[in-house]
Amino acid sequence: MKLNNLDREIRLLCPTCGCTDFSHEEHNENDLVTCAQCERKMSKGDLINENSEVINEAKHEIASEAKKQIEAEMKKMLKNAFKGSKNIKIR
Ligand SMILES: [Zn+2]
Repeated sequence: MKLNNLDREIRLLCPTCGCTDFSHEEHNENDLVTCAQCERKMSKGDLINENSEVINEAKHEIASEAKKQIEAEMKKMLKNAFKGSKNIKIR
């Protein structure tokens, strides 16, 4: 069974202004990011924590999309199984 692409791109939002653009300082041990709009500095971990709701939502979306695809696939398989039974002849 093959599922379609379930990848989701999650845009992390600045908790202060909702901006999605961040600049990263390279070689930064604390992994600090700076909001492009309000210049709030925070660690990547904090940013992910602040966006946990958005991330959870995306996870739910992926799960329900996978379920939909699996159900459609199961229906197809059942249909095929019944189709095949026509060819069974009992002597
Ligand atoms: Zn901001």
